[in-house]
Formats: sequence, structure tokens, C-alpha cells
Amino acid sequence: MNNSCFYCEKDERLDNLMMKISELQTSILYLNKDQTHSGRSILALQSHKRELFELSNDERQFFMEDLSKAAKALQETFAPQKINYAIYGDVVSHLHVHLVPKYEQGPDWGGAFVHDPPVTKALTEQEYKQLTDEIQQHLKLEEVKK
Ligand SMILES: [Zn+2]
Repeated sequence: MNNSCFYCEKDERLDNLMMKISELQTSILYLNKDQTHSGRSILALQSHKRELFELSNDERQFFMEDLSKAAKALQETFAPQKINYAIYGDVVSHLHVHLVPKYEQGPDWGGAFVHDPPVTKALTEQEYKQLTDEIQQHLKLEEVKK
């Protein structure tokens, strides 16, 4: 737990950037409020750790399973041509992965996605709710298939 970290505090700094989709084994999946890349999401480890090598083997395995499951749910919800994965954390060091669906006709195809686009794409609360509901449904279907 780190008081200055919004992934730990889950305060308005987090609410301004993302909304919760679901809790997974060892992480929480959030929908990014900027939807320039349709379906852009963030998977954050539940505990405050900075680097992959700080996780126990079990925790790292669960985290990778969560990541895979989240990516599959995004694939099934948004049907992108590719999903990009990015771990940065220079400023907010709490381990989190950006999951960014990419589309051949969409922004940044063939290159690195722009982390903070100059013009962002916000949705209405209703549209966010609809997307989080759809992603939740696909996550649940994964459970059933297991
Ligand atoms: Zn933290």
C-alpha cells in the first residue's frame, strides 16, 4: 500500500482516468476513459509492486492469466486486428499494463500507440456502462468455458 499511488488509493485521480470493469485473480481490469483506441483498458496488479520480478511465481502466473483473459474479452468485444500491450510506470510505478486494441483503419496502426493523445475521445456515462457490461459478459463466458 502506497498513499501517493492512485491504484492503491482508488481515489478521484483514478476515477478521472478509468472505470472499473472487473476484479480478476490478482488484478483489476479498468476501461480507459479516453477511448481514442476503442476498447483501451488497463490491467493493474492488486498489490503495490513496481516490477515483474518483484512478484512471486504464483502471482506472476496469475497476473499473466488475467492479462490473457482480459485481452481475449477485449478481442471478442471489439474485434480489433491486434492488441498492443504496454508497461511503463515511470511516474505511476504501480505495476499496470495498458491493453490497446488496434485497428487497421484506426489511429497509430503500424506504430506505437500515442499514450496521451492531444485530443482525447470521451464517451457518455451510458456508453461507458455499455462497454464495461459487454466486456464483463465476455469475461464471464471465459469462466464458463474453463
Ligand atoms: Zn499502488
